[in-house]
Amino acid sequence: MIYLQKSLPAPESLAKEQIKKSGKYDSEDVLTRLHADFKNKCYICELHQPTIIQTEHFVPHKGDVNLKFDWNNLFFSCGHCNHTKGSKNEYNNILNCTVIEDGVDSRIAHRVDSFPQFEARFEIVNTDVKVTNTVALLNAVYNGKTFRQKLEASNLRAALEKELEEFEQLTSAYLSKDNSVISLKDICNIIIKHLRSDKGGFTAFKRWIIRDNPVLNQEFGAFCR
Ligand SMILES: [Zn+2]
Repeated sequence: MIYLQKSLPAPESLAKEQIKKSGKYDSEDVLTRLHADFKNKCYICELHQPTIIQTEHFVPHKGDVNLKFDWNNLFFSCGHCNHTKGSKNEYNNILNCTVIEDGVDSRIAHRVDSFPQFEARFEIVNTDVKVTNTVALLNAVYNGKTFRQKLEASNLRAALEKELEEFEQLTSAYLSKDNSVISLKDICNIIIKHLRSDKGGFTAFKRWIIRDNPVLNQEFGAFCR
């Protein structure tokens, strides 16, 4: 999870739909803005270009019309994460990735283990109840609880593994100064794009690969925010 700035003002359809008996909170203008603001990435798992896009209520509306149509409460999510989070009370009070002060990716270390099997690991850097709840949600998303969720989580981890492999090819080439395929300048530019959140998914994991290596952190640490 990384910080993503929500654009303002709210899409026009929301106020119009709110006063209807069965108004829609996911009209075209809302989806277009969410798609752009969230860089076409699920805000929870950070999967890029999900094939099932859902408009997630950050705080479950449970019939509250104000929460249902509040632009600040509408987030871009994949189907897997939306179903996993649901309206469960344990995930109500989590870090908000659209609030810069919440510092989502710096307060939770996003790491992976490759052996004995590929797994995502979330470590609390700076603890409070929101951080703990967010880690619980991330663990549920990346591991699954029901059988269906476990299958979905396995697909998600496979996508994460593939994308991190590609990213680590770039960082390895940078560290070994291997410019046999593309120039070092181009390698640096591609790494920076990945860290700036507008290229590919799983940005928080990539930023932690940088933070965890002193040489990479010195060169690219400034782009991890
Ligand atoms: Zn997701």
